[in-house]
Amino acid sequence: MPSSSVFSVHPVPAFQDNYLWVIHKDSFAAVVDPGDAKPVLDYLSASALRLKAIICTHHHADHVGGVEHLLDVLDLRGKIPVFGPATERIPVRSHALREGDRIVVPGIDLTLDVLDVPGHTAGHIAYFGQGMLFCGDTLFACGCGRLFEGTAAQMTASLAKLKRLPPETKVYCAHEYTMANIKFAEAVEPGNGDLKLRKAFCAAKRHRNLPTVPSTINLELATNPFLRWDQPAVQAAAAARLKRNIGANPAPALVFGAIREWKNDF
Ligand code: ZN
Ligand code: FE
Repeated sequence: MPSSSVFSVHPVPAFQDNYLWVIHKDSFAAVVDPGDAKPVLDYLSASALRLKAIICTHHHADHVGGVEHLLDVLDLRGKIPVFGPATERIPVRSHALREGDRIVVPGIDLTLDVLDVPGHTAGHIAYFGQGMLFCGDTLFACGCGRLFEGTAAQMTASLAKLKRLPPETKVYCAHEYTMANIKFAEAVEPGNGDLKLRKAFCAAKRHRNLPTVPSTINLELATNPFLRWDQPAVQAAAAARLKRNIGANPAPALVFGAIREWKNDF
């Protein structure tokens, strides 16, 4: 069983707080969600890497805005695959993907399975394989994406899929939102000791200007309020937010929805 250690996965910072992930093995690379071409081109040339594939999770400009420029500058238009969700508009997409599809990323021989994770956008997909999850704006470190096109019920189902992945799975999300997310998570669960540890660990990283990602499914299960709808403390916070009794066994989407709305105006 190959491990993810044969791949290098590098965060290329872009815009205010995006990470464009470059996965490479030997001299070949694939990029996930290239919202901007310039920083990716700089990284590829500085590291002497040849781009072999583009992988997209959803249609937002900060995730696909650099696709065409990247292909044109490298003269790769029509020559390498552009993977993306089947039901969204992705520039020059060559492979329209949905749940159940499996891709093999050329050059780096990385096999990834596609998951449908609607909620942030209606057709958002995630890629999982060899111990890695590329989840775009669905799951963040200690947070989750806003519901721009989907419902709380859809996002809850999407996050439930991610919760079932192996606990050691590395979570490569697309933004550095961690410290703000932790601040909110503390408001939801002031008594969560794992959260306190995570805050100290991530604050130290940010202090040195290092990314707080990737995290792991395990760490998210312990600290991310958007995955913890089954926890009494999170359910109590949701009930307080809703100003009503939601019973001892509330529906996950009810708890998640209340917490998500709270975060929107936090
Ligand atoms: Zn987005
Ligand atoms: Fe984004």
